[in-house]
Amino acid sequence: MLRIENLSATVADKPILKGLSLTINAGEIHAIMGPNGAGKSTLGYTLGGRPGYEVTGGSVDFDGQDLLALDPHERAAAGLFLGFQYPVEIAGVSNLQFLREALNAQRKVHGEEPLSGAAFIKLAKEQAGLLRFDMDMLKRPVNVGFSGGEKKRAEMVQMGILAPKLAILDETDSGLDIDALRICGEGINAIMRGPGKAVLLITHYQRLLDYVKPDFVHVLAGGRIVKSGGPELALELEEQGYEAVAA
Ligand code: ADP
Ligand code: MG
Ligand code: MG
Repeated sequence: MLRIENLSATVADKPILKGLSLTINAGEIHAIMGPNGAGKSTLGYTLGGRPGYEVTGGSVDFDGQDLLALDPHERAAAGLFLGFQYPVEIAGVSNLQFLREALNAQRKVHGEEPLSGAAFIKLAKEQAGLLRFDMDMLKRPVNVGFSGGEKKRAEMVQMGILAPKLAILDETDSGLDIDALRICGEGINAIMRGPGKAVLLITHYQRLLDYVKPDFVHVLAGGRIVKSGGPELALELEEQGYEAVAA
């Protein structure tokens, strides 16, 4: 589904990704862990096509397409979803308006008619239910005044509505209390487990991986993957730290 080969990227002319390679097959869940400033968020933003993140080398194939040649909205329409470490607030636009626009923009790229209001509300209710997220919250402006946990759950509802092929989730567990962590973990499993889907979880901690069991765990340090293993690698990292395990 995703084949990253030798990817290099700069932010503000500073080299951050330095020849990163990673392959994710459909049906797999991968976790990337790594010290602060290693380039984890930069990897997510670069794959999402965020302005300011400049690719200086390498290639990324997403489901048979040259991902790097696509505009950000085309990447989303192709089935790439990026969950942000710091979700943005959008005053004056309700979650429901935002989600409906996003979904219909995606359908348009695929030559599909916009979803009717009633069909959209039905879909939104289903997905909000999975995350135990109140529909009233979805009537409020995007993320404005939401707690950290509410922002992450709103983002998981968004993921459920957009139904991506590949979700890259950047520290979805940060700022979550124990119940919200479990609900988000179960939401990720419900939405993203299955044939034709894959997840890249970026996380500092093992605890999210207790709910969303990864098939592979990678350590990102110095702009590339320096070590890969199975779920046991996350436990080893938590016990011994990055320096000992990935030196
Ligand atoms: P991680 O998510 O692994 O903690 P990041 O990808 O956020 O790391 O950051 C990697 C490096 O890139 C850090 O040294 C950070 O300071 C730098 N960086 C990120 N964004 C910018 C920016 N907009 N301008 C300058 N440096 C940046
Ligand atoms: Mg960080
Ligand atoms: Mg980060």
